Amino acid sequence: LYNQVQDLKGNIRVYCRVRPQFGGQSNGLSCVDNIEDRTITVLAPTKNGKEGRKSFTFNKIFSPSATQAEVFSDTQPLIRSVLDGYNVCIFAYGQTGSGKTHTMSGPKELTEEGLGVNYRALGDLFEISNQRKETISYEILVQMLEIYNEQVKDLLATDDIRNSSQNGINVPDANLVRVSSTSDVMNLMNLGQKNRTVFSTAMNDRSSRSHSCLTVHVQGKDLTSGNVFHGSMHLVDLAGSERVDKSEVTGDRLKEAQHINKSLAALGDVIASLASKSSHVPYRNSKLTQLLQDSLGGQAKTLMFVHIAPEYEAHGETLSTLKFAERVATV
Ligand code: ADP
Ligand code: MG
Repeated sequence: LYNQVQDLKGNIRVYCRVRPQFGGQSNGLSCVDNIEDRTITVLAPTKNGKEGRKSFTFNKIFSPSATQAEVFSDTQPLIRSVLDGYNVCIFAYGQTGSGKTHTMSGPKELTEEGLGVNYRALGDLFEISNQRKETISYEILVQMLEIYNEQVKDLLATDDIRNSSQNGINVPDANLVRVSSTSDVMNLMNLGQKNRTVFSTAMNDRSSRSHSCLTVHVQGKDLTSGNVFHGSMHLVDLAGSERVDKSEVTGDRLKEAQHINKSLAALGDVIASLASKSSHVPYRNSKLTQLLQDSLGGQAKTLMFVHIAPEYEAHGETLSTLKFAERVATV
């Protein structure tokens, strides 16, 4: 049912979210010229240095005043299709500081209002699975992974959590934890966050240079027919998309930047080839796309939130973010 509604909207959709402008910078100048329901216009200097403008159209634009609840409400039907056995990927893309983590998880000081897509999505899964409990019995399991320099780390690795191997899971060694309430999820996210901090002690702000992926596996059993089905949802907070000046970085920092560029480009290539219905989809070019292969393409649904930092100084990154998004959009 939810899926029928979703089919009308296509399998790939791109939403653009513009972060509020922080005070104290840019004298209030912005690189965002205009926002409409589906079209955003930004400054785009022309070749001869003159000020120009460029417009981009997506499935939806969320202005800086959009609340977390508003951003989530458009995603809600997609998430519900997971309970009908579909695979869904949700990505947060954008330069560091543009609001990816805010959208997916929420602000550092979490309030009910501030809760991001991750928490709300799981809350919905629990609520709906509970409503259906007379007819379908659901099991919901969660994994949290980090991809850094093309290596996958299990963010839920502790001795306390039971190790479970399930069919159809791409990282067989990663912990898969059964959850049955939003407080279970909160605890797991805190653990994942803590592990991520441990991994990053050697380095500042690793979180912006790695992809983090919260995967939810849903197993449903129809109590009348006995049929078992499986749906999944990947919620991915991507590494910062900002270009790094190769003349300025060396060593580890350069290697990181190369891995990030490569994997974001690979993700763009995969979604763009799905969007254009190309017969060859290049999944093998990065860990991220390999990991998500079963959940990208086919019947699966993909949603990309592209994030825009509105400050004037960000105009170069803003433009390249929008160009990336334009390539994967199907509107
Ligand atoms: P990223 O994950 O892309 O690096 P963050 O999500 O950490 O960026 O956002 C950077 C800062 O901006 C954080 O302090 C965050 O709380 C704030 N922020 C981002 N988006 C919004 C928003 N829509 N409304 C209010 N504050 C936001
Ligand atoms: Mg972040």
